[in-house]
Amino acid sequence: MAQRLAAQGIRDQRVLEAIATIPRHLFVRENLRSQAYSDRALPLTGAQTISQPWVVARMTELLSPEKSHTVLEIGTGSGYQTAVLALLARRVYSLEILSDLARQAARRLAGLGLDNVKVQAFDGSRGWDEAAPYDRILVTAGAPAAPEPLRRQLVEGGRLVLPEGDQESQRIVVYRKLKGGGFRHRIDDSVRFVPLRGRHGWNEC
Ligand code: SAH
Repeated sequence: MAQRLAAQGIRDQRVLEAIATIPRHLFVRENLRSQAYSDRALPLTGAQTISQPWVVARMTELLSPEKSHTVLEIGTGSGYQTAVLALLARRVYSLEILSDLARQAARRLAGLGLDNVKVQAFDGSRGWDEAAPYDRILVTAGAPAAPEPLRRQLVEGGRLVLPEGDQESQRIVVYRKLKGGGFRHRIDDSVRFVPLRGRHGWNEC
């Protein structure tokens, strides 16, 4: 899979290595395991999906986490993206609004021995005081705009990566927080994520 991603333009070797290390089949439903290494999003539960490997790779590359970083992730889902981040950062805090998914993901991550991850079930659009401010924040659900609590909980010099747009399609947007608290942003590839719910998402939950 890593070789295919490299051919598709993913350049960051650390990201390719992390993806080669994490067994994606452990994060998909048993009846879909034969498709675990195809470059497709796959259903999790209800309308939620595990992201396409290319999208995971691209978002991780744009986030550019480093070994010293504390990372906040919103939208744990299967925990696959969380596992990739756990290999690249010092510590990962991940929020999932659906408690069943959060529980299953936490169990999978612990099963892989990834003990630098903390998963919790609540509305991540509100951020998480636990370890703020974060060096990197990644949102893996489509948002109408960058939630204010997440902007606030980012360190100066940090990056926030999220899919921004409507509920059908989004563009990946990379925000950099400047000294003094301002932001600069860059718009990247088109993606299709399930909607970010919650206070600063598409609806109240
Ligand atoms: N990164 C995941 C894919 C996640 S799909 C993976 O690799 O498997 C998006 C996830 O975001 C869904 O599981 C959905 O339940 C969750 N989500 C949506 N709104 C949320 C919110 N406000 N806070 C936390 N999680 C949210």
